[in-house]
Amino acid sequence: MRSGHGPWRVWRHALAAAIVAASAWATAASAAVAVDAVAAADAVPAGATVLRLHGTIHDRDAHSYVQVPFDVPQGTARLSVRFDHGGREDKTVIDLGLLDPHGFRGWSGGSKREFTVAASDATPSYLPGTLPAGRWQLLLGIPNIRPGRSADYIALVTLTPRAHPEAVPAALAPVLRAQPGWYRGDLHMHSAHSDASCASRSGTRVPCPLFLTLQAAGAAGLDFVALTDHNTVSHLQPIRELQPYFDDLLLIPGMELTTFQGHANVFGLQDWIDFRLGSASLQDWNAVLDEVQRRGLLLSINHPRLPNDERCMGCGWTPERPVAMERIAVVEAVNGQDAGTPVSGIPFWHALLDRGQRVTGVGGSDNHDATRREVGEGATTPVGHPATVVHAAALSQAAILDGIRAGRVFIDVQGSRDRKLELSLDCGQGPQPMGAELAPRDGTACQGTVEVDGLADARVELLLDGDGQAIEPRPVAGQAGRWRFDWQADGRRHWLRANVHDAQDRLALVGNPVYVKATP
Ligand SMILES: [Zn+2]
Ligand SMILES: [Zn+2]
Repeated sequence: MRSGHGPWRVWRHALAAAIVAASAWATAASAAVAVDAVAAADAVPAGATVLRLHGTIHDRDAHSYVQVPFDVPQGTARLSVRFDHGGREDKTVIDLGLLDPHGFRGWSGGSKREFTVAASDATPSYLPGTLPAGRWQLLLGIPNIRPGRSADYIALVTLTPRAHPEAVPAALAPVLRAQPGWYRGDLHMHSAHSDASCASRSGTRVPCPLFLTLQAAGAAGLDFVALTDHNTVSHLQPIRELQPYFDDLLLIPGMELTTFQGHANVFGLQDWIDFRLGSASLQDWNAVLDEVQRRGLLLSINHPRLPNDERCMGCGWTPERPVAMERIAVVEAVNGQDAGTPVSGIPFWHALLDRGQRVTGVGGSDNHDATRREVGEGATTPVGHPATVVHAAALSQAAILDGIRAGRVFIDVQGSRDRKLELSLDCGQGPQPMGAELAPRDGTACQGTVEVDGLADARVELLLDGDGQAIEPRPVAGQAGRWRFDWQADGRRHWLRANVHDAQDRLALVGNPVYVKATP
């Protein structure tokens, strides 16, 4: 530690740091442009608290360290800092670090204006670990400020309570692309953070680094991946380092809840979720669904038809107590290469649709070796095989998960880079896409269209309530990959979706339903 350049001291002005409401984000803290930019940042996440620390650095502070104190309450799960200062035009530099009540928690110098620290993860430069309640210090270092100058600084400290771990600042949930469109991803994969393995550089079988998974996803042309290691969230830590580098690949933190009564992916979490089904802490799947709902997460039942025995312990969906299945919104209809096989999730999905539920069918590779590029008998399938293609308002976690909920989604079973499937049904209200719910009166004549791109000699199969014979699609003359069909509403409840087969009659694309409500 340097000495002789001015004393450590507490920045008294900042002692008044107050807990502020959302509006304070929009309140300019000073005339300095940089300070305004921070103050005008995104809204306070619901459930979180924001502390606003600000002050002024003077020329006499050059080559000293300034501590800006703030209090962290009991039960805080995450602390995120957004910092900026003025005076850059005068070459003023303010470095940044963090002390907890017991000591050092990291130093990023002048390299970062935002960072986060939580039990399981922290921005590189900072140390993850539990957040003790008490007085913390933002540590400012002043490498340079010219004689006669001063500079304002502001730090917004977002405190995320343990009860709402997903209440994080927007910087931790980036928007990689702002425009609506079809986004292609893989919702199920494993890495060294659970049981994935691959050959090391010298050929030994080792836990497979997450970096390779993301490189494989990029090479497969994916826009997003959900990282779903078994029963852990230790991958939250590398996400902090890897997401800025993979700025064209959205990393959705997930966890494969791996129980003795089935597996389910949970998407969008920022902290562990209890998986100990059947224990005192977690009675049954309904308790899981309660927690998922409370935290605003999304749950998908995985590979429901796999066995649950010594071939694959706990893999199949085998709840020991009744589950409120009407709360299931997503099912992994295709896992790896299981489409069309006896363990396909499609019949399980259809059974829920037949109950009148809205359930989005998705796919996931369940990859356990990121270096695998080919599909092989009995082996893990490559990342992106299958892909789940989601029509979303943007490429962000919130938009992708909302897109899955909305159901304008298809599964690209063979993991192509460019295949597309659109189905729409028009019962007099204009064409409605997959995921839409229509309510045509008995006798209404409806027209539908199916559009397929990227697949030569495709065969379209329309499934009305699972029946592949009920509706015959007609190819549109002169327009490859276009079909039309007619259907007359009968006042009863239905679901209608498309499967597309390739020239070898293999299942290539699995569409999600349009839903028809019963009408009086
Ligand atoms: Zn599984
Ligand atoms: Zn898995």
